[in-house]
Amino acid sequence: MDNLWSDEAARAAIAKYAGQGIDEDLALRTYTTRLLGGEPRLVQHGGGNTSVKTNVTDRLGKTIDVLCVKGSGWDMGTIEPPGLPAVKLAPLLELAALDALSDEDMVNLQRTNLIDAGSPTPSVETLLHAFIPHKFVDHTHANASLSLCDRPDGMELCKKVFGPKVPVIPFVMPGFALAKKAKETFEANPDCIGLMLHKHGIFSFGATAREAYDRMIELVSLAERELGKGAGKTLVQVKLPAQLASASDIAPILRGLLATPIDMAEGRYGRAVLDHRATPKVMEYVNGAELARYSQQGPVTPDHVIRTKPLPVILPAPEAGKLDDFAKAARAAIDKFRADYRTYFERHNAKANPRKKPLDDTPRVALVPGLGLFGIGPTAKDAAVTADIAETCASVVLDTEKTGRFETITEADQFDMEYWSLEQAKLGKSSPKPLQGQIAVVTGGAGTIGKATAAALKREGAEIVLFDLDAEAVKAAAKSLGALGVQCDVTDRASVDAAFKAVTAKFGGADILVSNAGAAWQGRIGEVDDATLRKSFELNFFGAQNVTRAAVNIMLTQATGGTLLFNISKQAVNPGPNFGPYGLPKAAALALMRQYAIDYGADGITANGVNADRIRSGLLTDAMVEARSKARGVSERDYMSGNLLGREVRAEDVADAFVSLALARKTTGAVLTVDGGNIAAALR
Ligand code: ZN
Repeated sequence: MDNLWSDEAARAAIAKYAGQGIDEDLALRTYTTRLLGGEPRLVQHGGGNTSVKTNVTDRLGKTIDVLCVKGSGWDMGTIEPPGLPAVKLAPLLELAALDALSDEDMVNLQRTNLIDAGSPTPSVETLLHAFIPHKFVDHTHANASLSLCDRPDGMELCKKVFGPKVPVIPFVMPGFALAKKAKETFEANPDCIGLMLHKHGIFSFGATAREAYDRMIELVSLAERELGKGAGKTLVQVKLPAQLASASDIAPILRGLLATPIDMAEGRYGRAVLDHRATPKVMEYVNGAELARYSQQGPVTPDHVIRTKPLPVILPAPEAGKLDDFAKAARAAIDKFRADYRTYFERHNAKANPRKKPLDDTPRVALVPGLGLFGIGPTAKDAAVTADIAETCASVVLDTEKTGRFETITEADQFDMEYWSLEQAKLGKSSPKPLQGQIAVVTGGAGTIGKATAAALKREGAEIVLFDLDAEAVKAAAKSLGALGVQCDVTDRASVDAAFKAVTAKFGGADILVSNAGAAWQGRIGEVDDATLRKSFELNFFGAQNVTRAAVNIMLTQATGGTLLFNISKQAVNPGPNFGPYGLPKAAALALMRQYAIDYGADGITANGVNADRIRSGLLTDAMVEARSKARGVSERDYMSGNLLGREVRAEDVADAFVSLALARKTTGAVLTVDGGNIAAALR
């Protein structure tokens, strides 16, 4: 492990934070916390914490000794001084006299002793930091430390590798009991420079930020050197089918199996978003002949269970062309996972006091020999964090298995961690957004209505994919929205198929399609050339058919219904002079929407349209607007608001109409007009 300390960067941190009134102790504490947090082999997603013992002066000029310790909700890689709240040290130290302290009481005492009442809640490992007398204390779940200790002889191996300066503590649940055990161990070994927590992680201490950081890197490097004995080895691998299906082929099948009905009468499901990983390490792990043994032990460090559940589900290697067989075997594996999870809960809950609230039984990680792993979550962000942790797990287990045999904490300890009272207290506190877990594809995604619609769907919780012909524009639009942008020519079936493959590869499937790509060609119908008319049909009709057909096939595989939305335009029912080349394919698109409503209603798929009129394009320059109003002989403002309500219709209004149709689970084959009122365009 490289030591990234730099005197120059340390000085820069001191100078930068001095400008914010932060003293040197906290400035350097922030600096090395970021050094640790920026390295995923040391720290991942909340898996670690740091502290410094310093003092603050209160309003009366009194100096108070405090512990500045990592607060919950902050990422070590990007932490700032407010992420290291100050807690009065003396009352924390007095707690050592107690024999026991519940987690709730501990958190309450930590919060009531904060210097700033608005601070985040200090880490659950705060007392351990307080009880170690060193000024700087660093804690990580470094991969190498876990590979070394997650084995039956882990305690002995750690003692051998680290020597007497790093005592090893047997596994104890994080919280007051662990803090007391660490204090006791430290007092028996006053010269120690760190602590190994069996099957959990590693601590290092020092008089300065640099000393504690240097020691962390040294200790992790020692562990890496020991694990180097396994370098060059490969785990025995299974024989895979000669032709494998792809991850994007099986992902919609998986999403369907992972979905949980919330209200079948309403067609509502708890949907999963997937995140696929297939790094060389992940492949070696999932293709290992002993996968069923080493993957079914438990997490590499206890707090991973909150993200991954204790165990992943193992699915069969999918053979190309035999997706039905895969679907059957995957269903059996997932059903068994759910049943086993419920038994695990009952088994341990029977002994729990007080009794726990059961969590859902959907797996969070799926391992697929030949294809890699899938992180599973209610949102893309959750799925990505879970996939990161599953990748870390694969890496740690590989290194352990190459030099020994992986073993983790007992199932009872896994249950205590997963059903930890502080986690249980969070249940039911937040309600999911209405479109959470749904993956929405918006075509013409870089245009004014496309972008507004995507933003509105995202606000309701959907994951967004933009398709657009313009590669640069779609990239920029996707970036500004935090969406996936895919270049796609909707008139080309191969391009559409490739674009949907990118969607299933990224998120696992699709639930909402907004067919919005279109363009307005003009010409008197008796004089317009065939090429223009056909070009318009290709985009405005066949473009809609191509993307809808592809989306419906994914929806049918998922078997959880779906939402088809069409931007139809008032031209479909209220044609304007010389707009035949545009209005005719739009009228066909209206019929297309109705046909999908008829043919796929029984599958729970709704098909609806929006007829909008006079939406100002974001592409129009002021000069173009002026030229247009001159030609019309009416001001732009009067033209745009020339409707029954006298109100200009904006792209956001169209977007809201699409969202309301996406939420309406009992409306299909309908058209919603968004035109400020135009009786000639009313459907009859
Ligand atoms: Zn820890």
